[in-house]
Amino acid sequence: MIINKIVKLKRILNDAVSKNKTIGLVPTMGFLHEGHLSLIRKAKKENELIVVSIFVNPTQFGPEEDFGTYPRNIKSDTKLAIEAGADIIFNPSVNEMYPEDSSTWVNVEGDITTILCGVSRPTHFKGVTTVVNMLFNIVEPNKAYFGQKDAQQVAVLTKMTKDLHLNVELVICPIIREVDGVALSSRNTYLNKDERKQASILYKSLQMALDAFRNGQNSVDELETLIKNQISTMHLAEIDYVNIRSFPSLNKIKDVKGRALAAVAVKFGKTRLIDNVILEKKK
Ligand code: AMP
Repeated sequence: MIINKIVKLKRILNDAVSKNKTIGLVPTMGFLHEGHLSLIRKAKKENELIVVSIFVNPTQFGPEEDFGTYPRNIKSDTKLAIEAGADIIFNPSVNEMYPEDSSTWVNVEGDITTILCGVSRPTHFKGVTTVVNMLFNIVEPNKAYFGQKDAQQVAVLTKMTKDLHLNVELVICPIIREVDGVALSSRNTYLNKDERKQASILYKSLQMALDAFRNGQNSVDELETLIKNQISTMHLAEIDYVNIRSFPSLNKIKDVKGRALAAVAVKFGKTRLIDNVILEKKK
């Protein structure tokens, strides 16, 4: 069932809650792929009613970014989401979420939103935290599902949930990849053939860093250099950042002790891709 209006969604959800049903929420911007579907399938296993939101959120795009051209296909998304276990597709209009007089923001302040993607996308996380907060308030889910693909988003939302004492459990799901290692992303459709081929260097370089770490290299400088050198072997790749930080606090570290996040953002032509691995010893 597709629902566009908040009041209607709330009515249905109130009814479900009165029957003691647990609610799982999967927030997405649509153009669904296996990454999104893995979140929906996991939610289906752990909750009785699954809401998948499909909303291309304008406030998380910068003025020069791809809000207007972001791929959309609500018809095929609805089919895929329902097959994966969604009960309700919440697909509001921009005006439904942000009426003209809307002027309230949720913003996680500090380094956590200004480093990594926050450098080239200074208003991005403010848009994400505001819309996710709205979705939490509208749906009031028991659990909400997010992908490790957007590792900084996970870190920021974890902090927001803690800081605001929100009554929801965040479930973080592993990154789903193509056979050559490229992380699935709705934006991969922007890549031409050569860019798509060279994009596999992101995961390869991260894997090499993971191997080096497991073989005893724990200097952040050395590991970042290794990743940068690998990515630079691809002539179409333009590095935005390569960063190793503690996770999920995203603090600066000199050496990897225990566990850390290695994250990269790289442009291929106009398309900016992100990827990451967790550096940790084998269990
Ligand atoms: P998006 O539609 O890009 O906003 O993504 C919606 C959710 O799906 C976010 O929590 C993403 O982290 C997650 N996601 C996107 N791509 C992947 C992937 N390749 N593997 C796992 N989760 C993903």
